[in-house]
Amino acid sequence: MALIVQKYGGTSVGTLERIRNVAQKALSRQRQGDQVVVVVSAMAGETNRLIKLALDLTELPDLREYDALISTGENVSVALLAIAIQSIGGKARSLVANQIPIFSEGVYKDGRIKKIGTQKIRKLLNHGSIVVAAGFQAVDQEGNIHTLGRGGSDTTAVALAAALNADLCEIYTDVDGVYTADPNICPDARKLDKISYDEVMEMASAGAKVLMIRSVELAKNYNVKLAVLSSLMDLPGTLVVKGDKEMEKTVVSGVAYDKNECKITVSRVPDQPGVAATVFKSLGDAHIIVDMIVQNVSEKGYTDLTFTVRKEDMARAKKLADVASRKLAAGEIKIDPNVAKVSIVGVGMRSAAGVAGRMFETLGQAGINIQAISTSEIKVSCLIDAKYTELAVRELHSAFNLAKAPAGSKPKKRAKN
Ligand code: ASP
Ligand code: MG
Repeated sequence: MALIVQKYGGTSVGTLERIRNVAQKALSRQRQGDQVVVVVSAMAGETNRLIKLALDLTELPDLREYDALISTGENVSVALLAIAIQSIGGKARSLVANQIPIFSEGVYKDGRIKKIGTQKIRKLLNHGSIVVAAGFQAVDQEGNIHTLGRGGSDTTAVALAAALNADLCEIYTDVDGVYTADPNICPDARKLDKISYDEVMEMASAGAKVLMIRSVELAKNYNVKLAVLSSLMDLPGTLVVKGDKEMEKTVVSGVAYDKNECKITVSRVPDQPGVAATVFKSLGDAHIIVDMIVQNVSEKGYTDLTFTVRKEDMARAKKLADVASRKLAAGEIKIDPNVAKVSIVGVGMRSAAGVAGRMFETLGQAGINIQAISTSEIKVSCLIDAKYTELAVRELHSAFNLAKAPAGSKPKKRAKN
C-alpha cells in the first residue's frame, strides 16, 4: 500500500463536473489499495475574484484581513470535493489548515510552513477515508490565517507529502506535464518526460506556471518524488527528479515567459555607496520580491536604478521607491507595466559557453530590444516590451532547437542543442 498525495489546481476543480471527475480519480486510486490525501486549490478564478474585492475597497488592504479573505476559496473547494467523493460512495473528510493543523511563520500573504501535525490525517487514512486538505492556507501560533503565496497549494501538497513521508506527490493541472515552452504559443513544444528540480525551479521563477517555486525547493530538500500530470487526460506526465549527467547534455531545456512583472526606474540617484541599499532594504523589509536589477550611469555622478517587482506589488513598491528617492534627493520614478521577461533554462548551461550571446542575437535579429538582463548558473532572462513576448518565445524555441521532432523521425528524449 502506497501513500499518495494528489494536488488538483483551480482549473481541475473549476466546475462541479470537474470536481466529480477529481472525486472519481481519487476514489479509484484508493480502491486500487493506496491511501490518498488530496490537496485542492480554490475553484478557477476564485482567488483572483476575492483579491479584486479587497483591492476595489482599498489599494492597500490590511494584510491580516486580506489573507482571511483570500484563503476562503479553498474552504469551498475542499468541502465540495468531500461531498462529491461521498456522493459516489467513498469515505472522505475535508480539513482546513487549523484542523490539520498546518502552522506557519513569517508574514501574511507569504507564510512559510513551519510544522504540520499528521496525527489526524493518519487516523482518517487508517479508517479508510480520503483526506481532502485545503491548499494555500496555514495558521500562526495565534490562529491567524496566513496564505502561502500565489499558487501555494503546490507547497501545501509537497509539505504534506514530506511530513507524511508519502511515496509520491502527484500534481494534477490543466497541462499534462512540463513543456519546452507554453504550447499555446509554440504549437510544436515538446513534453519533457523528465526534468530536474533545479530546472523546474528556474522555469517557475521565469514565469512558467507549472509549479510554485517553493514547492519544488521543498521537494528537493526533502526528496519528495514529484509527478506533473493532467487531471483531464490520462497521459504520462513529467517526472521531477534530481539532475543527472544525461540531462546536462541538453544546454537549453525550455523557454519561459512572465508578464506579471513591472519595471520601476528611480532616476538620477547620486552615485554613492549605500544608495542601492536605501532603495532595496525598504522593499525587502516590506517583503516585496525584487527580481531583475540594473544600474546605469545616467550622467556624471548619477545613476538610474531600474528593477522589476510583481505587478501586484507595484503600488506598494512605488510608494517605497518614492520615499527612498526623496531621502536620496534622487529624480522621478518611472513605472512601466508593459514589460515581459523571457528566459531560457537548462542545467547544461553550466558547462556550455556562448548561450547568452545566442539568446541576445536571436532577440536582436527579431528586432526586439532588451531592457534588462539577469542570469543564474542555469538561466538567462531578458526583459522586453510585453507586445513581443510571443514572438520572442517562438524565436528562442526554434533557435535552441526545442521543437518536436517532425512526424516519422526517431523521437529524441531531449534535444541536444
Ligand atoms: N488559490 C490560490 C491561488 O490562486 C492557491 C493555488 O492556486 O495554489 O493562488
Ligand atoms: Mg492556482
